[in-house]
Amino acid sequence: MSGIRPTGYLHLGNYFGALRNYVRMQDEYDCYFMVADLHSLTTHPDTKELRNHVRHVMAENIACGLDPDRVALYCQSHVPETAELYLFLNMMAYMGELEKTTTFKEKARQQPENINAGLLTYPVLQAADIVLHRATLVPVGKDQEQHLEMARNFVKRFNHRYGEVFPEPRAFNYGEELVKVPSLDGAGKMSKSENQFATLYLTDDDDTIRSKIKKAKTDSGPTEPSQPKPDYISGLFGLMKLVSAEDTIRKFEEDYDRCVIRYGDMKKQLGEDMVRFIAPIREKTEAITHDEKYLKEVMEKGASKARSSAQGTMRLVKEAIGLNYF
Ligand code: AMP
Repeated sequence: MSGIRPTGYLHLGNYFGALRNYVRMQDEYDCYFMVADLHSLTTHPDTKELRNHVRHVMAENIACGLDPDRVALYCQSHVPETAELYLFLNMMAYMGELEKTTTFKEKARQQPENINAGLLTYPVLQAADIVLHRATLVPVGKDQEQHLEMARNFVKRFNHRYGEVFPEPRAFNYGEELVKVPSLDGAGKMSKSENQFATLYLTDDDDTIRSKIKKAKTDSGPTEPSQPKPDYISGLFGLMKLVSAEDTIRKFEEDYDRCVIRYGDMKKQLGEDMVRFIAPIREKTEAITHDEKYLKEVMEKGASKARSSAQGTMRLVKEAIGLNYF
């Protein structure tokens, strides 16, 4: 189980941190993937735009390879059981730990005028999304590690108090480590809301992709053989590892180690490889977004699958708590 907020169009971090794993998991597991529209309300977005973003993110999920016939692909607000479970899990979450959450502290810094309770209990809603399907594996990027640890704590407390209802979920990635796709300016990660010029979107046109990569931060190059790479240079190599051929990567690694690397050439190559990677996803997304009837059917089918799983879980939850009075 996993989800992506429709706070904007998807970017390379969403793809390599999350979607790439979703697509592989659909062949091996019973999967639930959703567009997390309720989560995005914590930052008070313009809800006229939200409608467009929900459809767009749904289309991007499919364009990246998710098959709505094989997985439950749904919109979070179409599954009201989520809110009910969120209420029960809120009783398992303590103020102190919620206030200490890194993402809460970051958001409180970014929007001091809107530190609402939904922002504080964001990890509880996320835990509800996951355990609503009694999911164990949660494909996410590295930024979500702490939330998953919190979800495990809420689950342990619930199980301890009321009996074993939920398995403990964990962050999942097919590679060895969770992924963090760095931003092109070498400062932090690619993100929907911040540093738009340093983030590569799955909808960027070819020239925008080339131009963003061309402007990525570099320097005058290494001065000693096999010198450690500064963050922004290892970020560029990191991006290359995601989309370029092995011999291309090896060539630039060797050039770097021998202090003969030309960053202009490297960025040009990376630009072309990135265009080759992103263009087909962009074109597919455009076609799907225009097919409203299809998207509506996908959402209805996804909601029905997700609600049926959610209702099964809620029966167990209420029995365990003792809310079945007759
Ligand atoms: P969000 O866009 O915050 O709703 O995140 C959706 C998914 O994308 C989550 O699994 C995140 O961990 C993942 N994600 C977002 N940004 C990045 C990034 N820069 N690198 C890796 N994964 C990311």
